[in-house]
Amino acid sequence: MRIEIIPCLQDNYSYLIIDESNNSACVIDPSEAYPIITFVENNDIKLKYILNTHHHFDHIGGNKELKRKFGSTIIGFKEDSHRIPEIDILLEDNQIWKAQNFIAKIIHVPGHTSGHICFHFFNEKLVFTGDTLFSLGCGKIFEGTSKQMFDSLNKIKSLPEQTKVYCGHEYTLNNSKFCAKYDTENLNLKKKIENINKKITNGLPTVPSTIKEELDCNIFLRTKDLKSFSKLRDLKDNF
Ligand code: ZN
Ligand code: FE
Repeated sequence: MRIEIIPCLQDNYSYLIIDESNNSACVIDPSEAYPIITFVENNDIKLKYILNTHHHFDHIGGNKELKRKFGSTIIGFKEDSHRIPEIDILLEDNQIWKAQNFIAKIIHVPGHTSGHICFHFFNEKLVFTGDTLFSLGCGKIFEGTSKQMFDSLNKIKSLPEQTKVYCGHEYTLNNSKFCAKYDTENLNLKKKIENINKKITNGLPTVPSTIKEELDCNIFLRTKDLKSFSKLRDLKDNF
């Protein structure tokens, strides 16, 4: 399996997971169809599945056109079936989704939206976290409580440390400034920020991160209790 990062819209990332044994692929959160179509056609890929982490437009915007063009199957959380356009397969929390050689565990992570899920490809040690966990940040709480978001992040925190984290947006630089402001003595964070700056200067994505790096550097994962987490989330909303 090979991952291709496809920048979409302003600062979104869509991802292709390509099974190199047969050139078939899943796309995670196609914000828009055009960049995906271009890549798929140029590389002769069969786009079999569209996986959505949540219903926001910048994550599902390409669904319809890709389905029409490639006959792909759309997959998302069952409780979001009314707001994920043309959904075909409904997933449940903790389910193992299997198709061809693709195998992922579904982790329900409410907070950003009530139906947000992560796709954990445990064999390849990858997790697609949408707008729940960002590199050095976490999503805004739109449809849930701080407690739900805190619990959801704790689920992600418990994944194996070497798991690669692919998130929905390139927010890392701005997130790093927030972390640096409130976590001044963190040497791991300082190192990571140097690394991020290099990547940004060279026009490269800062994803993937790893669970280990996020545990070491992401202030939202480093807070020990719900109260300080909520306070940080409020501060970040006005940062
Ligand atoms: Zn979102
Ligand atoms: Fe988003």
